[in-house]
Amino acid sequence: MSDAPLLSAVGLTKNFGGFRALDDVSLDLYPGEAVGLVGPNGSGKTTFINVVSGVYTASAGTIKLRGLPIEGLPPHRRARLGLGRTFQVPKPLGNLTVLENVQVALQHSKSAKSGDADPLEFAGLAKFANRRANSLTTMEQKRLDLARVLALSPAVVLVDEFAAGLSPSELIDIASLLNELRGKGMALVVVEHLLGFLEAVVDRVLVLDAGREIFSGGLKEAFSDDKVVEVFLGQ
Ligand code: ADP
Ligand code: MG
Repeated sequence: MSDAPLLSAVGLTKNFGGFRALDDVSLDLYPGEAVGLVGPNGSGKTTFINVVSGVYTASAGTIKLRGLPIEGLPPHRRARLGLGRTFQVPKPLGNLTVLENVQVALQHSKSAKSGDADPLEFAGLAKFANRRANSLTTMEQKRLDLARVLALSPAVVLVDEFAAGLSPSELIDIASLLNELRGKGMALVVVEHLLGFLEAVVDRVLVLDAGREIFSGGLKEAFSDDKVVEVFLGQ
């Protein structure tokens, strides 16, 4: 394992007109590490993921992936360099099969090697390879979203509210999949409200309120922090 961060975001700020959705947020992520991104609705979590993945251009700040500045690159170039993301609501290409969805992702990849583990196998979808994506359940679509990301052999995976809408046993499955990714040396940013899920997956949390960092540290410590407690009880 290397001592250099896989992802280094410094001073990220995003303005929408006169409104600042993200305000001077920084995060370093190391190989095999998972950080929870936590905060009330509207606190800037998805904006952070959109700015890092390139959906939005940062108004200020720098983003490095394996030491390489990426803040000027479009999303597909960032993805190709090893930045994967899943969506709060997965959007598979519904009329294509499960396998075709992963193949489309692979066409955009230079880094994927033929020896890589089969992403469908890994996501537990091999048996559905020839099914149309729009015939999958929510859980299966989330797994497909993850398989699509894994096809690009990412170094960093940004996971936006992946667990929402899943049953307790599905949550356990997803938590163990994410932990396997960490075991492979990938680094994860996990946006999630469910404490139990966070406990199962992350080492530390970054707590946002109104676009600003109000806490960074251990999950247990976060919930004995006055500012964090105030923000969550005030909801
Ligand atoms: P979270 O994911 O923490 O619930 P978001 O990052 O989605 O919050 O949103 C943070 C704030 O930024 C919200 O007030 C939201 O309305 C605003 N926002 C997000 N995207 C846009 C946009 N494209 N244009 C204007 N405002 C936006
Ligand atoms: Mg969100």
